[in-house]
Amino acid sequence: MLYKSRTIPRELEVYQCLNTRIKLSEKERKHLFTLRKGYEGEVQFDNLTSSIQSECFILNDLLLQQNKSIFQIDTLIIAPDTIHLFEVKNFEGDYFYDSDRLYTKIPPQSEVTNPLIQLTRSESLLRQLLQSLGCNLPIQAVIVFINPEFTLYQTPINKPFLFHSQINRFFDKYNSTSSKLMTNHKELAEQLLSLHLHEAPFFLPPSYQYDELRKGNTCEKCGFFEINIKGTKCICKECGKMELSETIIMRNVKELSMLFPEMKITTNTIFEWFQGEIPKRTIGRALKKHMDCKGVRQWSHYEY
Ligand SMILES: [Zn+2]
Repeated sequence: MLYKSRTIPRELEVYQCLNTRIKLSEKERKHLFTLRKGYEGEVQFDNLTSSIQSECFILNDLLLQQNKSIFQIDTLIIAPDTIHLFEVKNFEGDYFYDSDRLYTKIPPQSEVTNPLIQLTRSESLLRQLLQSLGCNLPIQAVIVFINPEFTLYQTPINKPFLFHSQINRFFDKYNSTSSKLMTNHKELAEQLLSLHLHEAPFFLPPSYQYDELRKGNTCEKCGFFEINIKGTKCICKECGKMELSETIIMRNVKELSMLFPEMKITTNTIFEWFQGEIPKRTIGRALKKHMDCKGVRQWSHYEY
């Protein structure tokens, strides 16, 4: 049973917005690619865990703290007899394993961080946290290589790796157990959820200023800037995707608040953001409908 769902990481959201509105450096574009690929892998794994039939609580994407150390868990499954900790990797292509290090096979062979280092750390911190909560269930920690196009040569047999071709069998074994969850499992899930930190502490966005960003309406589907506005409908000139102006307005409010959390949302700021493409009247109506109006007349602004 899904107990905590995954949301798109703020860092990825910010980078995606910026990618359509400023020119990211080569390094930043690579970082965006890595973030996106990682997230896609995690979502693919969620699709697989969502079909588990046996009793369990699934908590996706947890950010926890033990003493002064913060650690992140891609997927945690509370099963009746075991706590399963999964670190999901979406590596693609040929790699090889040598003396506890991972390298890409194609020259120039470059070392990538062995995900076992992160897994060992997370497992140790999780164990300490669980003990402090009075839970003594054993932890099984596993790296999931979700991508079917990934090969790891020279893999030692005793490493806690789960390859794409093994995932279904792993969950079949899961489904064959008939143990039941008890109240203490539910309490543990609740405690972990309440300890989840909402703000990732290590996020360093690229620097950007309001004036540098390209303003205007973008298509949700293809990111194109030219949109035809007909009454309450907006149609992308590139891909033909139709969205209601109200939906576009609120999507852009969300985008603007994410990029500039300090900015006050008013009819004028949104009108300017759209470069006058959507009438103030339409913007005002949407803001009034979906947000709370604070202040009066020319000093009024909107908040969620
Ligand atoms: Zn489009």
